[in-house]
Amino acid sequence: MPFYFRIRTYIFIIFFIFLPILNSLALSLQSSHFHIYIHPQINTVQLLDKLKVKYFLSFYSEPLKKDDLEYLLKKLLDAIYLETSDALDIHMYSFQINIDILPNRQYLDRLLTSYFRNFSSAPSFYVYEQNKIYLSFEDMTLGMLVHEIAHAIVSHYFVIPPPTKVQEILSGYAEYLVNKSIGKNRSYNLKDGED
Ligand SMILES: [Zn+2]
Repeated sequence: MPFYFRIRTYIFIIFFIFLPILNSLALSLQSSHFHIYIHPQINTVQLLDKLKVKYFLSFYSEPLKKDDLEYLLKKLLDAIYLETSDALDIHMYSFQINIDILPNRQYLDRLLTSYFRNFSSAPSFYVYEQNKIYLSFEDMTLGMLVHEIAHAIVSHYFVIPPPTKVQEILSGYAEYLVNKSIGKNRSYNLKDGED
């Protein structure tokens, strides 16, 4: 084999070895209360904005460096966890939750279908067995995250988890209180909580 072809072969081999790594430039962070996975297509600044960073972190200021973003995101998610705990008046200081933030609802629907054999569609959901919240970035709101965090807290706090309808009411209540405390002026029906 001519030298040129050998070099090309090596380049191809190296490329395919590193391809999975190149494809996994997702953000993976660990905060006090979360193991966080953020899909590489997601803009972290927009994510901070959607989660009302200016309300939760008084020291937030622009412009931001990459390291600042990761630090802010961890602090912000922990602050939202504490706000949700306060709303429920349930405090589990060492509790940790997994979060996957994916680009849009289609990603979540594919997961529901392939892993959970569930053919419904949702912008967010919590899986008790994995202790994991799945969120669609496109649809994401602060209230939606609070709702799912409340599901995680409520389902782990009680020795016997409350019935699904009670969990739904508590999650809707936490969502309502947090939205109210940040001054989001919208009418809210407790029955409308997203799963
Ligand atoms: Zn729910």
